[in-house]
Amino acid sequence: MDKSIEKIVSLCKRRGFIFQSSDIYGGFSAIYDYGPLGVDLKNKISQLWWKEMTQNHENIVGLDSGILMHPKIWEASGHTGAFNDPLVDCKQCKSRFRADEFSDDFESFDWQNTKCPKCGTTGSLTEPRQFNLMFKTHIGPVEESGMEAFLRPETAQGIYVNYQLVQGAMRLKVPFGIAQIGKAFRNEIVARNFIFRTREFEQMEMQYFVKPGFDDDSMQQWKEKRFGFYHEILGIDKSRLRFHEHDKNELAHYAKEAWDIEYKFPFGWSEIEGVHNRTDFDLKRHEEFSGKNLSYFDQSNNERFLPYIIETSAGLNRMLLTVLVNAYWEDKENNRIVMKFHPKLAPIKAVVCPLVKKDGLPEKAREIMYILKPDFKVLYDQQGSIGKRYYRQDEAGTPFGITVDHQSMEDNTITIRHRDTQQQERVHIDSIHKRLMELEDAWHH
Ligand code: ATP
Repeated sequence: MDKSIEKIVSLCKRRGFIFQSSDIYGGFSAIYDYGPLGVDLKNKISQLWWKEMTQNHENIVGLDSGILMHPKIWEASGHTGAFNDPLVDCKQCKSRFRADEFSDDFESFDWQNTKCPKCGTTGSLTEPRQFNLMFKTHIGPVEESGMEAFLRPETAQGIYVNYQLVQGAMRLKVPFGIAQIGKAFRNEIVARNFIFRTREFEQMEMQYFVKPGFDDDSMQQWKEKRFGFYHEILGIDKSRLRFHEHDKNELAHYAKEAWDIEYKFPFGWSEIEGVHNRTDFDLKRHEEFSGKNLSYFDQSNNERFLPYIIETSAGLNRMLLTVLVNAYWEDKENNRIVMKFHPKLAPIKAVVCPLVKKDGLPEKAREIMYILKPDFKVLYDQQGSIGKRYYRQDEAGTPFGITVDHQSMEDNTITIRHRDTQQQERVHIDSIHKRLMELEDAWHH
């Protein structure tokens, strides 16, 4: 694993962001558990996405469909069937090979430094990919006679099969979108880079239904909006973001045009989100497999058509990893590590510390907790020296440190310490709430 990713992994464990699954049993491969700070950070990111989709757009509504669905859905989508062997592609000459022709140990085999057997290029082989990545299970009391079912490998299909019900219930007119956040499962054969590629993960997908002919414009708009989300809303450094367009050989069978939004991770440029023009492929297939007419009736023009779909498909865990990498800062001068989260993302907004554990300071600090609690996630900490307490919170990414000292007992003022600059300001207790709001609003990435 890359060195700087290793540092982030260890900070995540130390501070309670992310743990490997089943730790006391030696871990469980490519599955991670989110600790107290991780779950808060993850929720904040997904809430921003949800708000951007369903609140900022009047014509986008939410959905939460099941993880298990009718198995025919996966026949229609093209996820079942076809071949089952892990394959490796040569990006240079486009040849395909069975991965086991190279090695049986896919995880540790050095694909990057292997020559393509056909064209002889080194570094052009992809890591092995499996066509059918779905986890299989059974519904019913007896495995043999039960119905075979699959854990969904993407949330998108739940949207397609519900699209008419949603459209009818909400009286939506094309163009409209349906957004969903939920777990997806893929039996990845090479899972690595911490939470970048895991076997259980969360997707945030929005499927936008448009009239055919309007799809190219819509694609352009969604590309821009989604790119903007990363630097304007999440505060990700723009110079570490880029688009990558899928060329003809990379395009999935369902796509007319596809763009990845990539981030420059310590292990290289990698996809965090895909924006795809899926045409009417999925709805057509579901019409074929379900026997139902899925066309949309456009009253104003008195015509029926199958909408085209522009999909924006993001991985919540990859977005979280992006936020973690982007925030990580080794402040060598002061010998500390700081997670520079924007206050709106920080799992804890402020730590409240009595300078000493006596003279009525803890009680005063508790009073401040009660003032702030209804609106901010605050933490009370009286353990250890004040410097140590601040450094712990720097690693947790807590933007503000509020300290109650002896002067507070005399004039009802406290200090607010700023995480990134370590500067302090003295504020009256009655105005802390307002001041924290101001600081958050005026925050620069
Ligand atoms: P990749 O090529 O990296 O496997 P993909 O092209 O298969 O990704 P999509 O099927 O387009 O990915 O899924 C959309 C998004 O879901 C991806 O951009 C990514 O953020 C997320 N995602 C996909 N597979 C995983 C995984 N195994 N672990 C974590 N996130 C994933």
